[in-house]
This record gives sequence, C-alpha cells and structure tokens, in this order.
Amino acid sequence: MNDLMHHQGMRRRLVDGLRTKGIRDERVLEAIGKVPRHLFMDSGFVKYSYKDQAFPIGAGQTISQPFTVAYQSQLLEVEPNAKVLEVGTGSGYQAAVLLELGAKVFSIERQKELYVKTENLMTELGYRPRLFFGDGYKGLPTYGPFDRIIVTAGAPYLPEDLMDQLKVGGRMVIPLGSYERQEMTVYIKTSEDSYEKQTKGDFVFVPMLKGTAQ
Ligand code: SAH
Repeated sequence: MNDLMHHQGMRRRLVDGLRTKGIRDERVLEAIGKVPRHLFMDSGFVKYSYKDQAFPIGAGQTISQPFTVAYQSQLLEVEPNAKVLEVGTGSGYQAAVLLELGAKVFSIERQKELYVKTENLMTELGYRPRLFFGDGYKGLPTYGPFDRIIVTAGAPYLPEDLMDQLKVGGRMVIPLGSYERQEMTVYIKTSEDSYEKQTKGDFVFVPMLKGTAQ
C-alpha cells in the first residue's frame, strides 16, 4: 500500500481542479488532499484515480467522482467529533474523507462483497470507521441520533427512518429523484417534527436499493 510522491502530486492537481470548479471549503480540500484515492481503486486503474471521474469498484458499483464527494462533504458542514452516518460505504473513499474532517463515521453498505472488501481495506489503511452490512433505508437506530447524515446513492424519496435518526439542528445531504437523475438535497432538522429543505443541483448516482445482497 504505497502513497508515492507522484500520487501526492496528482492529488494536489486534483485539489486545485476542485477549487477551480467551485469547492470553497478549505477543510474539505485539505481532507481530499490527504486521502490516497488510488488505494480505494483496483490497482489497474491507478492512472485514472486522480481524474475527476466516478469509477467502477466491483459489484456493479462506483466510487463517486471527487467533485461529488467534495460537494457533498461541503454541504454537510462537518465539525470535528460530529457523529456522521453514511449510507452507501462503497469503496470507503467518502468515509475516509469524513474521517479526515474529524468526524466519527458510521457507514452502511447493502452489498456483502463490498462491505467485506472495504472493511479489510480500511483496517489496512489505518482508517477507523464503524462499518455495517445492512439496509441504509433503516439507518442505524441503535447508534443514532446523528449530527449529520450523508446518502451516497440516489434515493427515490426521503427515508423516514433516516430523518428520525437525525438530531435536531442536524443536517442530511441526500440525492433525491428518479433512477436517471437526482437533485442534491439538504435537510436541516429544525425541531422533532419539522425541517428546512434546500436543493443544490442535479447529479447522477447509482440507485439506493432496498434490502441487502449477499
Ligand atoms: N460512498 C461511496 C460511493 C458508493 S456508490 C464511495 O465513496 O465509494 C453507492 C453505494 O451505495 C453502493 O456501494 C451501493 O451498494 C450502496 N447502496 C445502495 N443502496 C443502499 C442501501 N439501501 N443501503 C446501503 N447501501 C446502499
């Protein structure tokens, strides 16, 4: 598991590119600058790892595009020690960025194969999120409530269990919409039974699916 000078150089250029594309949160840019994205992808794909592109990670899933990771992280407004729930662990890259932001990360993945692969990788890299195999529509009722919730798959509607597990004053960032296209949506929970909603542009994610897959 190597992070070499030329990887670091490519990463600096990626960060400059994200700044040019409008990412303003310096803490997020710093976190992206620290996470060795190439180690979250299969070794044959290293040359693509610092391009601003999504990429296949197996099991029909993708590692999100760096811009999307940066954008969602910026919208989440993570403070150090915040308790963050991520739905859709995938490669673990977004979880690593959240850990670099100082969050305590709880992340759920519905595909067994990815859950196992990413659990091993995170241990190898020295990242310590709490990873769970399960259905993100249900959240993690026994570990909540959370300060922040980030969904990294395209959801057809706002899962009620997730809103229930968000603290009052907390924020949820979730791409909501059809299979083809989703609108990045931010919910700010203003009381036990009310929230404010903001929309932040169109994205395309892999779908948030029900249940688990072995
Ligand atoms: N955050 C990931 C992006 C992964 S793509 C990364 O940084 O690499 C979205 C992931 O969400 C996929 O791995 C997919 O299997 C997972 N997913 C889809 N529906 C889910 C659900 N209901 N619960 C948990 N994970 C889900």
